[in-house]
Amino acid sequence: MTGTVLVINSGSSSIKYQLLEPATGTVHASGLLERIGEGVDAPLHHTAGDTVHDTTVYATDHSSGLRAVLGAFAEIGPDLGDVGIAAVGHRVVQGGDTFSGPVLIDDEVIDAIDSYSPLAPLHNPGNVAGIRVARELLPSVPHVAVFDTAFFANLPDDAATYAIDTDVASSYGIRRYGAHGTSHEFVAKAVAEHLRRDDLKQIVLHLGNGASASAVDSGRAVDTSMGLTPLEGLVMGTRTGDIDPAVVFHLSRVAGMEIDEIDALLNRRSGLKGMTGQNDMRAVRQMAADGDERAVLALAVYTHRLRKYVGAYAAVLGGLDVIAFTAGVGENSAETRAEVLRPLAFLGVELDEAANAARGDGIRRLTTEGSAVTALVVPTNEELEIARLAIDLARD
Ligand code: AMP
Repeated sequence: MTGTVLVINSGSSSIKYQLLEPATGTVHASGLLERIGEGVDAPLHHTAGDTVHDTTVYATDHSSGLRAVLGAFAEIGPDLGDVGIAAVGHRVVQGGDTFSGPVLIDDEVIDAIDSYSPLAPLHNPGNVAGIRVARELLPSVPHVAVFDTAFFANLPDDAATYAIDTDVASSYGIRRYGAHGTSHEFVAKAVAEHLRRDDLKQIVLHLGNGASASAVDSGRAVDTSMGLTPLEGLVMGTRTGDIDPAVVFHLSRVAGMEIDEIDALLNRRSGLKGMTGQNDMRAVRQMAADGDERAVLALAVYTHRLRKYVGAYAAVLGGLDVIAFTAGVGENSAETRAEVLRPLAFLGVELDEAANAARGDGIRRLTTEGSAVTALVVPTNEELEIARLAIDLARD
């Protein structure tokens, strides 16, 4: 697994990147370019070792944007020629039912990714733009696409199928694709390594600004909370998660709202933000501590949904060995973890309050030694997982 990998996460108006060693996890450089194509000076934040470089660049599109990023490597370092990149790993959000694992990128792969843009209109077009430009600017290196949906591409049919007209579903590609798969896979593998067991029944809770749950049986994903799009499932920073689809008809018929307005409402003005005005968990916790009743209710809704998913997935798995918490809220909010875990004593979860409250790096246990179910914090690292998958494929 030796060789340096450049990981690129190209959004509609941003390019996030990391230069790292998949074998050790050492990060040589990382950065973020934002506001591409917005007609303003685009801020570029580049970190290489102890050097932090903030500047603004000319980035009217992904091509000038990536040129500016490569310029930062040339100017600030490390020199990509000296490093010798072994592969470029691209994060791609939606791989439809074509891609159940990482793939070496060629023109056909790009066309296929582009064809899934209607399922991820906010993400896939930006991913494709980044891939096209990166292949042009770094032509002699293998480029690998790593899909957010891949870990869930082989969900059992009963979990992946929506109970609607079969012809409609197959004509329009309607099924559960899931998302955050790279993180769920990384965490599930890290848990198996940590506990030295491959036959675990795990529930992984990725709780960031976006949030999703998965049920993993012996390394295979058997259910996940995000669906056709990342809107379904848990309560998120700005997204509703599960909601009766009839709310959409009601808002259209009774409130006279346009479909795009409802889309924006459910995706960007709902979840914690919709209920409290704040999407950041720390701010909502502070509001609740100050006695704001909306924030108290929003937190109750947030944890109620989480407990519901844990109960459902324990039933789907037919047992439970591990609950793993990851991402911003999962890794940092002891209150949220405690609110989820305390009422689960009936499932065999015995929370160790002191261990849960303690801070620390790496994988940490949250339950007592005697607990029948082990709860863990497992810091996620999507870039490292993308780099590992990319180098494995590039070396084959
Ligand atoms: P992510 O999308 O993984 O970066 O996670 C972002 C979310 O993590 C935001 O809602 C943050 O408020 C939350 N978060 C980060 N640090 C903390 C913390 N110390 N306590 C509670 N929430 C946190």
